[in-house]
Amino acid sequence: MTREEPVGVVGAIIPWNYPILMASWKLGPALATGCTILLKPAEQTPLTALYLGALAKEVLWWSYVAGFPAGVVNILPGYGPTAGAAIAAHHEINKVAFTGSTEVGRLIAAASGTSNLKRVSLELGGKSPLVIFDDCNLDEAVEIAHNAIFANHGQNCCAGSRTFVQEGIYDRFVKKAKEMAAAKKVGDPFEEGTAQGPQIDETQFKKILELIESGKREGAKLECGGGPAAEVGYFIKPTVFSGVTDKMRIAREEIFGPVQQILKFKTFDEAVMRANDTQYGLAAGIVTNNIDKALMFAQSVHAGSVWVNCYDIVIPQAPFGGFKSSGYGRELGEDSLKEYLEVKTITMRVPMKSS
Ligand code: ADP
Repeated sequence: MTREEPVGVVGAIIPWNYPILMASWKLGPALATGCTILLKPAEQTPLTALYLGALAKEVLWWSYVAGFPAGVVNILPGYGPTAGAAIAAHHEINKVAFTGSTEVGRLIAAASGTSNLKRVSLELGGKSPLVIFDDCNLDEAVEIAHNAIFANHGQNCCAGSRTFVQEGIYDRFVKKAKEMAAAKKVGDPFEEGTAQGPQIDETQFKKILELIESGKREGAKLECGGGPAAEVGYFIKPTVFSGVTDKMRIAREEIFGPVQQILKFKTFDEAVMRANDTQYGLAAGIVTNNIDKALMFAQSVHAGSVWVNCYDIVIPQAPFGGFKSSGYGRELGEDSLKEYLEVKTITMRVPMKSS
């Protein structure tokens, strides 16, 4: 017979872009499978996790909603190279569930190798393609592509950050995409009508601006935006580049900001080949009214999630994770539970003769 047993002590290292979501994607399956968990939030966003920890400690006399036994849920705020690295190298931590950059993902995998070969699941970066065919409804396609990249100010690992548009609708698409981005209200997130607030911190702000400059230098056409949106604060104008080619840095590197890259293609095969020409493989999308194209694309693209005529639809029941350098292991859905379980095979000899 076989048994599935909890892997044991789980170290979870999470990023800042969706603090409560990232914490719950790790806490849920770890607790459901009977593991204990040590959760390290990102240094930029420790408060959400600490509050979650306070709720876990709360004992409510009228219900059993909270009140985990001591030691089951542990929150450890700290910096990556110290607290995070200590978790990755710890000999008594049996598994690390990590979400963050590909660069740090490699360090986590290496630390597992040189310590106790702890199980590792990694959800890393992306440069996800969204391919738009000229048989689509143009307005709908422009809106899908806009939200695919600008949601959460572009601070999204599965952002549709390479918008491939078929040549027949390319110019009209670019015009509408530019209008939509330019109309976006940037400012105080607490003010009504604001659609985009500041980026998370100065490091990200500078990195995004540097990549925008590289796009200008390398010859992409700046359609709108292209710099800071205010004199103070980390606000960036929603930016659209057209005429982007595959070798430009803005087409290869994860920007993690409100910057849309629009590339032109001719044929289906070309689109698939260029969509797959990346080290990443987190997500992909296609907009078309042709079911054959949609299914062929979904089979051919190297990505853990593929969205057809929509984008960034992540639901708790469906597994989420990456191909290639976007990581390994799956979160959400039943698949996520496997990441927190060891399989044990028990073989029993049955006596042949009765006494
Ligand atoms: P981002 O670029 O999105 O901030 P990081 O990969 O740097 O992504 O950070 C994601 C998480 O990884 C954060 O909790 C951070 O503290 C942690 N981290 C950063 N460096 C290391 C490291 N060397 N070892 C372990 N964890 C780290």
